[in-house]
Amino acid sequence: MSVPAGDGEALPVGDVSGLEAEARAVGGRTVTEPCQEAIATLYSFLDGELTPKVRRRIQDHLDDCAPCLSKFDFEAELKALVGRKCRDEVPDSLKSRVAMALKLAGDVPS
Ligand SMILES: [Zn+2]
Repeated sequence: MSVPAGDGEALPVGDVSGLEAEARAVGGRTVTEPCQEAIATLYSFLDGELTPKVRRRIQDHLDDCAPCLSKFDFEAELKALVGRKCRDEVPDSLKSRVAMALKLAGDVPS
């Protein structure tokens, strides 16, 4: 459970194991650590709150990992949409589409 040396930004092991337990409980799938980190930092990434080093690592992971990339793309698109339409009510059709997409993206039992 250790991050390769040369990277001073290892995650606390306690946080990761909590996510891992949750992920396994939801889908029965084994989620690899880079995916856990990517998902755990999704909102920080989109908000630009990560250090350049972490940001780069997540970006590299997204280049290799289609499931994570689609999840990030969806969130980024949603964020942009909400930003553009901040004065409008979110339509029910979008809400249900969001719920559906989140289900497909991460919580489908095998
Ligand atoms: Zn991934």
